[in-house]
Amino acid sequence: MIPHAFDYYRAGSLEEASRMLAELGEEAKVLAGGQSLIPLMKLRLARPSALVDLNHIPRTAYIERQNGHLRIGAMTRHAAIEESADAARIPILHDCAAGIADCQVRNMGTIGGSVAEADPHGDWAPVLLALGAEVECTGASGSRSVPISQFIKDAFTTVLGPSELVREIRVPAPGQRSAGAYIAFKRCAPVYPTASAAVQVAMQDEDFCLDARVVLGCVGLTPVVATEAAAALRGQAITPHAIERAADAAMAAADPQPDLRGSADYKRLLIRVLTRRALLAALGRARGEHVEVSHEYVGR
Ligand SMILES: Cc1cc2nc3c(=O)[nH]c(=O)nc-3n(C[C@H](O)[C@H](O)[C@H](O)COP(=O)(O)OP(=O)(O)OC[C@H]3O[C@@H](n4cnc5c(N)ncnc54)[C@H](O)[C@@H]3O)c2cc1C
Repeated sequence: MIPHAFDYYRAGSLEEASRMLAELGEEAKVLAGGQSLIPLMKLRLARPSALVDLNHIPRTAYIERQNGHLRIGAMTRHAAIEESADAARIPILHDCAAGIADCQVRNMGTIGGSVAEADPHGDWAPVLLALGAEVECTGASGSRSVPISQFIKDAFTTVLGPSELVREIRVPAPGQRSAGAYIAFKRCAPVYPTASAAVQVAMQDEDFCLDARVVLGCVGLTPVVATEAAAALRGQAITPHAIERAADAAMAAADPQPDLRGSADYKRLLIRVLTRRALLAALGRARGEHVEVSHEYVGR
């Protein structure tokens, strides 16, 4: 379908984009990769009166290491993260970027657009929560840094004010013997996952876990931080029994809705399997092994 008519503006800086949004009013929206917004407009589920295009603003797409953090500009495409050697040093980022939809979507879609969209089925939020990332926001009243755990308020709802923008995602570099993994289960490549699990662990040695985070995607209105699953690992020797307890606790934390992707029970079972697999991959990586992870697809 053809979208409803709208005015088009091209911003030269994020500050100008924010000013334009303030002047144009709440019916205006910014355009990043357009991979969520344009389909919604074509279906006429979104009818912005004006689009402010961020695509021509210099220095908004970058991946930089600085002071123990990885800084990712809001307009960085999923594909650029997939191909980045700096991002690959935090393998869970590569797991996520490489598995989003197909290469067309990855070449256009941006990390800033994904976190701003706050789609409960999106891949980035569980991963960024597992890493304890921060979102740098910018608007008329200046800049502020918001932990991703506070940034997402509800399904498709963030703390962003009407003329506020995501400028950057800041990921703390995991320490030694720390690693994570992210696995999503999908019906096929160009669709959102049915369920997903992000696991990040910090190990004292080969077996003893100092800290853990387990975050589940697609099984709640926002990503589910599975605190009991993490507690089953934190301060424990990682035995097969501890791994099963963590996977069981993740399954108990999931609160999925039945839909065309599957029943609630089916999604809970998926969470159990995905958590176990992501945990095993994270543990292997924390021990220094090269563990490749890819999304799971129906029938594979
Ligand atoms: C066929 C298909 C399959 C997909 N599958 C997946 C998948 O498996 N996993 C997944 O995670 N995603 C998937 N996506 C979505 C994709 O990842 C998008 O890139 C992402 O959701 C939005 O990013 P975008 O840059 O395209 O944002 P846009 O579509 O341009 O914008 C999305 C929303 O965010 C706002 N926005 C954008 N940038 C900013 C900013 N810097 N500051 C404030 N607000 C901003 C816009 O105004 C809009 O409301 C899929 C998309 C398609 C079309």
